[in-house]
Amino acid sequence: MSEERQSMDVDIVCVGFGPAMGGFLSTLARDPDPNLQVVCYERADDIGFGVSGAVTRARGIRASFPDLDPAEIPMAAAVRHEKIAYLLDPIGASRRAPSRRSKTLRAADKLLRLLRLPRGDAFMQAFELPWTPPFLRKDGGLLLSIGQFMQWTGAQAMSSGAVQIWPGMPVSEALVEDGRVVGVRLLDQGTDREGHPDAGYMPGMDLHAALTVVGDGPVGAVGRQLDALFGLPGGHHQHEWAVGAKMVVDLREGVDLEPGTVFHTFGYPEPEIFGFFYVHPGRVASVGIFVPSWFHNPARTSYRYLQHYMLHPYLWRYLEGGKLRSWGAKSLQEAGKRGEPSLAGDGYARIGECSGSTNVLTGSGVDEAWTTGIQLAEAVKELRAAGKPFTKANLEETYVARRRASWVEAEGRVAEKARDGFHHGVVTGLLGMALAGATKGRFSIAGEPQLLPNLEEYYRGKLTPADIDEVRHQCYGRGVAMHDALMDRCGWPAVPHDGQLLMSQQDALLLGGKVQAPAGYADHVTFLYPDFCERCATKLCIEMCSGQALTPGPNGVPLFDREKCVFCGACLWNCRQPLDDDPVRTNVAFRAGAGGLHSTEN
Ligand SMILES: Cc1cc2nc3c(=O)[nH]c(=O)nc-3n(C[C@H](O)[C@H](O)[C@H](O)COP(=O)(O)OP(=O)(O)OC[C@H]3O[C@@H](n4cnc5c(N)ncnc54)[C@H](O)[C@@H]3O)c2cc1C
Ligand code: SF4
Ligand code: SF4
Repeated sequence: MSEERQSMDVDIVCVGFGPAMGGFLSTLARDPDPNLQVVCYERADDIGFGVSGAVTRARGIRASFPDLDPAEIPMAAAVRHEKIAYLLDPIGASRRAPSRRSKTLRAADKLLRLLRLPRGDAFMQAFELPWTPPFLRKDGGLLLSIGQFMQWTGAQAMSSGAVQIWPGMPVSEALVEDGRVVGVRLLDQGTDREGHPDAGYMPGMDLHAALTVVGDGPVGAVGRQLDALFGLPGGHHQHEWAVGAKMVVDLREGVDLEPGTVFHTFGYPEPEIFGFFYVHPGRVASVGIFVPSWFHNPARTSYRYLQHYMLHPYLWRYLEGGKLRSWGAKSLQEAGKRGEPSLAGDGYARIGECSGSTNVLTGSGVDEAWTTGIQLAEAVKELRAAGKPFTKANLEETYVARRRASWVEAEGRVAEKARDGFHHGVVTGLLGMALAGATKGRFSIAGEPQLLPNLEEYYRGKLTPADIDEVRHQCYGRGVAMHDALMDRCGWPAVPHDGQLLMSQQDALLLGGKVQAPAGYADHVTFLYPDFCERCATKLCIEMCSGQALTPGPNGVPLFDREKCVFCGACLWNCRQPLDDDPVRTNVAFRAGAGGLHSTEN
């Protein structure tokens, strides 16, 4: 072990191996350039770490692999049937709870119940839309496990010899000299939890490169470093996000859904929560929900809601008797085009979700991310052929110009304001989405993010401040979040754990993926101003933590357990204590880190 920082020169260094980088490296690998050394670092312990749905129109993926046969990729299928269903509340809990199930929604529920009665029990609690709006359709698309797909993609790219992909290697930061990105620094190893040198200390290597490609997703430390350094273009913001949680399930024998079947749902377990159920080959399904930033519940939880979601009769008719294979959670940057940073600068370019490519109207991020990767790779080839350097101007003329002329940009513009109406409530939000979709983004319903209520405000009329204090006292005394107890008190039934599919969050972590937390790395979740945490009554970071890695600490500052952290990034978004000097940043410092959930099926 050396205590001196090593350095190495390469031509292109890449941060993160998600779909965006898959598109980039696959395009370079198709036409290998023996004089170009390309190295990609992925922080997770496997190149198939990704957590995603994923159903995708796959336009970019098919452009990269024109002869693609889904049967070549484990768990992949062509999209066959798509349905959108509005789920009624079968247990009355989300209506009894102080959710925002408005009068309009309740009236609609009543009417739909009457309409659906003749269709039999299983259907009684859901209303299938008679058709799927064109902007949501994934005709001709693919249903994938993003983990399996990334492993397949990685193997293809590396077998060309043109690129190297190194998992288990987090990039700590971009190296910036005089406003130019000159490469990256890998994370120090052999440190204590605070990052100080410890036994076996090895400073992270510096990689100097002519081009640094940043595709580190919604919570990547390098992307956020560049945002902090160079700022977002005027009027852009990243206030919209969601946390997605999913399970991969072995369906019981006899469930004869055709692979490629896709259900999208809304309405339950809370009106604000969208869900999905996708069928892979081999009687395997992916089932998951998205908890969005505009859901005004200050004690929200994705894990408990996911279980109630699966228990909805519309889905349970398929899931009953099923067995958990895998579990995962991950953030989504949903600001899309409006959150777009500078796409290129001297020595660097941004691709994928960290570059604002995700489309919230079409519910699609994989195809967009992949395609931005292709666009950058084509630009790289063009610049290399012309012998031009990777300057901001040259990257804008090639990469950014390609992107601006593409469907990613055109559809991103249509989606830009599509979901603003949700800030006024679910019905307004759905109308706004339909309006934006029907008018190709010319019209939508405006809305601004609202302040999150505190627990007392949110539960007014259901629980008294004294009830809430009691729950807080009991839960914090046991070192657990409050959401379960609050939901119980509001009438949500207990989840009937069966140890197969319905189980405690910790059991899901053990059975559904196992967290990897290699020793010798600093904690990646820390708090910038611990005194903010001491004064913070809501502690949404703890409530929303996907791995129960954040728990109430003795002095009000949450405790972080790296061995339970699935690296979903939910704490970063869900801390609702904006900093005085920077209202966009929160009190959670979410740094580069190793490990996270090991599950290649998500
Ligand atoms: C539950 C869920 C369901 C979804 N369903 C769908 C769907 O059905 N269809 C669809 O199109 N999209 C879906 N999405 C969105 C889609 O997954 C994303 O838009 C897409 O993965 C973005 O790709 P990306 O390559 O830009 O980023 P990511 O997939 O986030 O990849 C970024 C990679 O960078 C790595 N990384 C981060 N920081 C570092 C660092 N410092 N050093 C090294 N590596 C780093 C990460 O580990 C990660 O592997 C879903 C997302 C979720 C969470
Ligand atoms: S990190 Fe944010 S949400 Fe969590 S306790 Fe601190 S201030 Fe509150
Ligand atoms: S601590 Fe880890 S598991 Fe918990 S919310 Fe943050 S990133 Fe997710």
